Amino acid sequence: MGEPLETGRELRNRAIREILRQMEGAEVSSIEFEGPEIAIYVKNPKFILEGEEKVRELAKILKKRVVVRTDPRVRKAKEATLQFLLSLIPEDVNVDPRDIQFDEVLGEVRVLADKPGKLLGRGAALRSQVLAETGWRLEVYRKPPMASKVLDSILRHMTVTSERRRRALMEIGDRIYRDVVVGTRHVRIIGLGSFSEVGRSAILVDTGESKVLLDSGMSPSGTGLDAMPHFWIPEFRVEELDAVIISHAHIDHIASLPLLYKYGYRGPVFITPPTRDIMLLMLADFVELSKREGGEPLYTMKEISQMMTRVITVNYDTVVDVAPDVKLTFVNAGHILGSAMVHLHIGQGLYNILYSADFKYYRLKADRARRLLPPAVEEFHRVEALILEGTYGAKEPQPREKAEEDLVNLANKIVANKGKLLLPVMAVGRGQDMMYVLYNLMKEKKIPEIPVYVDGMIYEVTALYTEYPELLAKPVRDLMMYQGENPFVAPNFVFVNDEDTRQEAINSEGPAIVISTSGMMTGGPVIEYFANFAENENNVLAFVSYQAPGTLARRLAEGEKEVEVPVDGTLKTLKVNMEVTSVEGFTGHATRSELLLFLRHLRPKPRTIILNHGEPSALLSLGKSIKESWQKMGFDAPPEIMMPENAESIRLFPRSQKVKVALDYL
Ligand SMILES: [Zn+2]
Ligand SMILES: [Zn+2]
Repeated sequence: MGEPLETGRELRNRAIREILRQMEGAEVSSIEFEGPEIAIYVKNPKFILEGEEKVRELAKILKKRVVVRTDPRVRKAKEATLQFLLSLIPEDVNVDPRDIQFDEVLGEVRVLADKPGKLLGRGAALRSQVLAETGWRLEVYRKPPMASKVLDSILRHMTVTSERRRRALMEIGDRIYRDVVVGTRHVRIIGLGSFSEVGRSAILVDTGESKVLLDSGMSPSGTGLDAMPHFWIPEFRVEELDAVIISHAHIDHIASLPLLYKYGYRGPVFITPPTRDIMLLMLADFVELSKREGGEPLYTMKEISQMMTRVITVNYDTVVDVAPDVKLTFVNAGHILGSAMVHLHIGQGLYNILYSADFKYYRLKADRARRLLPPAVEEFHRVEALILEGTYGAKEPQPREKAEEDLVNLANKIVANKGKLLLPVMAVGRGQDMMYVLYNLMKEKKIPEIPVYVDGMIYEVTALYTEYPELLAKPVRDLMMYQGENPFVAPNFVFVNDEDTRQEAINSEGPAIVISTSGMMTGGPVIEYFANFAENENNVLAFVSYQAPGTLARRLAEGEKEVEVPVDGTLKTLKVNMEVTSVEGFTGHATRSELLLFLRHLRPKPRTIILNHGEPSALLSLGKSIKESWQKMGFDAPPEIMMPENAESIRLFPRSQKVKVALDYL
């Protein structure tokens, strides 16, 4: 049962009182509500380090994220700070002055170093020296082994737009900490997309007081309005939306997001740091692609840039306010880098929703050694309703081990025939998975070290994977962080970034493996490879991920032997003589048995389970299995299971009848 909500004004007054009391000596010059954070600006930089304990205490009392920054007026000029920093860096640490970036909004100076340990060996002493001397807070990061243009452009964008970003954050803060209008009245969930289907994920959560959108995707297989979530239903109005929360950066979860800005949304997007980076890459590519195809792009870089100034990154396991009565926590989902399950805490404990989004779950020790990402989190404080993906709800693909065996056999077949093995993959997730699998299999000598050509956006995304090694599964993290080995830059891996290398991949005499986008063969360089490889029976096309109905990949997987593909702008009919096969078991989604295993280990047990992100037959089959084995899975009572359609609205009721009655009569 929740306590009454504090009004925005009450919170502000209480916060100011507490801050002034706790932070004596800091010379507080202003207190701002920036997005979900309370930012305190001080004129005494020494306080920031000396008063860390007091700030933690303050955050606990206020139940808010609290950050302390120096007042911009007491910060040293950037050029002088740069010179000071360079004078502090030991000679055996390489720092390119271009790798020293200032963030004026955060009052941070970020240094990328090849040996951050050496620089930080002096740890707190160095940081306090810099802070006391310059007023800038020093953050040191490892310089990633692969250069990423995206991250560079994000950092540049942040610097250029820092003042705009700060103003946007303050507007957002005003909205999050507004005076409550009606309070939490109910919890309703309205599927705008991804209900009874895969694609165009978008779920509206409405509490009466606030409206929050979970994901804003587009269907990879639909066209026009059919690809869009049901944004036109009366419950959804851009101007009423408080926040958008993005689970991960796949197109079916992000592609319609800039469109919201085109139609007037000016609120925040909550997102994990890697998802922000991958999202920018994917959306920029999406705009490029639609331009190249001659169509009118749905939105432009202008909307994407508008969106980027309102992006608020949130790390895993950190609670933030996204609306007056909604708190958000992201936890690892294990699906792709940065992917998150979304936990919403509504109305001061009235209701808790867990949105699994796309996730991967496993428990086998043997599996852990071969995976790029750790499995999804299974323990929560409270969960009353679970929105659960069911992509593989009906079908159990073969085990991962068997999938690797199949891949070994296919690779050795093309080695014997001097053929080519073509693996269509999504740029994010499966691309990196397949590189890591091949790296391992070649290291174990199960596959000879033949060239592996990697084409499409996979390079940029892989570079981002190397930016966040701490988020990868332990074995690969250790490999990268402590043994200095990078599984993505093996000598026989060739990243294709020009037409010459692509022609080499296509025309080379010997056997080769080609990993290329897009995974469902709806476009991308994979089409050119396919057009060149299709008619030769020594070649193999192997699908290693999900194919949506209607896509070229699905049609080929289902056995079509004659297809039309665009070659140099005109459609060409191809006879498919190459072997076409599907290797199941590499999926980044929880398989049927993993979905049930996840429910078995999920703590606490939800009372309501809403199934989405699956074809209807898959969801039906999953729902049936949950109903049949809820006892075995450790539920006290059979959970209520729902499989709504898009545009349907579901009202969730608190467990306590008293609360329910109270709400009904408020
Ligand atoms: Zn996904
Ligand atoms: Zn998805």
